[in-house]
Amino acid sequence: MFRPSRREFLHLSGGAAALGLSGSLTFVPSAIADEAREKGYYTYKVGDMEVTSIYDGIWEKPHDDGFIRNATVDETKAALEKAGLSTEFIPIEFAQTVVKTGDNLVLIDAGTGGQMSPKAGATVKNMKAAGLDPADVKTVLISHFHPDHIFGLMAKETNEQTMPNAEIIVPAAEYKFWTDPATLEKMPDGFKPLVQRIQATIPNWKNVTQVDGEKEVAPGIRSLPLFGHTPGHTAYHISSGDDELFVVGDVTNIPALFVVNPGWQVSFDAIPDLAEKNRRMIFDRVISDGAVVAGYHFGFPNAGTITKDGDGYLFTPMS
Ligand SMILES: [Zn+2]
Repeated sequence: MFRPSRREFLHLSGGAAALGLSGSLTFVPSAIADEAREKGYYTYKVGDMEVTSIYDGIWEKPHDDGFIRNATVDETKAALEKAGLSTEFIPIEFAQTVVKTGDNLVLIDAGTGGQMSPKAGATVKNMKAAGLDPADVKTVLISHFHPDHIFGLMAKETNEQTMPNAEIIVPAAEYKFWTDPATLEKMPDGFKPLVQRIQATIPNWKNVTQVDGEKEVAPGIRSLPLFGHTPGHTAYHISSGDDELFVVGDVTNIPALFVVNPGWQVSFDAIPDLAEKNRRMIFDRVISDGAVVAGYHFGFPNAGTITKDGDGYLFTPMS
């Protein structure tokens, strides 16, 4: 199987420009990405901590005019093509991050729970494949309350908790927004079932802790509010020794569209201008810190590095 080293990969990326393809390529050679998806997990080190990306799956989202507020379907397809992706649909992938710290397993975001897309819901299976027992998770950190990030906490029909023995840490601003009775009134009809489901579950759970602002939520892990995608959207910053990892949740969606074009505003962003300001700020910080970044919708493996490219950025996955 074709497996270039990092040096060869960078060379190949530069070679694309030489061939007249403008800009650098932002995708992992597909053989490597396919192999990682097949395996379902990808493990790397941040200082002394062992970190694992877990693949939950993909939503092959049909194109629609409203998906990006300030880009057309044609522009969207052109950006997908430039990144070497299919233009048939928008490949929204889901991947969580698991951190081993001390004797604790920390799970960041809970996955789709198999309730979002027929091709997603593999979190439990892939954690087991990685040798990580979901029953050993003592802490779940939630970035925000969109379905693909919290449905893994609750069973499909009964809403019964899937991880009742873990402490579930949620951003206080996010909790306040979604559990406010006024939110149910204000939200468009399409969102009401989600609001109702949240209000019927999370406030009744005894193992939920709210975190406000920047706080240490587990050894070596701090919350980092990055509001905009939702009113309380929060990233998590992990540090060990000289190494840093930013787990940025949905500060942006798929890299081929939104890392390359940070000014493109996905329809899921609740406060678009704030979301854009925070995404540029955190990408600049990741670059200046020389840190690793992991995004929930960054494909697989979903961790890598960011570089500046004109007015936008490039994401290069680990390989
Ligand atoms: Zn998401």
